[in-house]
Amino acid sequence: MLYRFTHALANIYGFIAFGGFVALFLIAFAFTVLYPIVPIILIMIAPFAAVAAVGGSRLLRVAERFFARRKLASAHCPHCDGACAASTSIDAEADSIVPVSVLVCSRCARAFIASGRVLPISIQASSTSSSDHCAD
Ligand SMILES: [Zn+2]
Repeated sequence: MLYRFTHALANIYGFIAFGGFVALFLIAFAFTVLYPIVPIILIMIAPFAAVAAVGGSRLLRVAERFFARRKLASAHCPHCDGACAASTSIDAEADSIVPVSVLVCSRCARAFIASGRVLPISIQASSTSSSDHCAD
């Protein structure tokens, strides 16, 4: 439950942060003529707000992986609570192409690395099809 909430929130966090910056821009634009100190203050706050936005995104990812690791420790899928089986796959976001051990859910077919990060679905499908192709 907490994993699904933080996962969904982390996925839309970029749009929320962008909407916040657009709202700040509109506030600054509206006060340009009426009260010019407001845009000046918002310009001075903007770099700190950008740092806070990036920090919030990373904090959400840390929380998402924390809740995922708690479920993966009991060999249950964090997303659908199905049973997970150990397997190997290629991590496309890693620097090397060494196969990593993953936990694959039998119900929703998501693959999780031990750190709690989920592999993209397209990578999972291509790695399984290539392994099937190599087996022939
Ligand atoms: Zn699942």
